[in-house]
Amino acid sequence: MRGRGVLKERACKSCKMVTTLEECPVCKEKTTTNWLGYVIVINAEKSKIAEKLGIKNKGKYALRVK
Ligand SMILES: [Zn+2]
Repeated sequence: MRGRGVLKERACKSCKMVTTLEECPVCKEKTTTNWLGYVIVINAEKSKIAEKLGIKNKGKYALRVK
């Protein structure tokens, strides 16, 4: 039995958004399971990390996508 209900999370190669889909729901780029760490952005306009990563919308984003 594999972990029931646990979906493998993926990250978009373009905008770094974390999703369980194979295609990014935002920019339609392919996603990858090869990513490290994540940041949750609640207010992109006030977040220094979001600014650094170029994130404009709230959500969960990978810090590094290979
Ligand atoms: Zn994307």
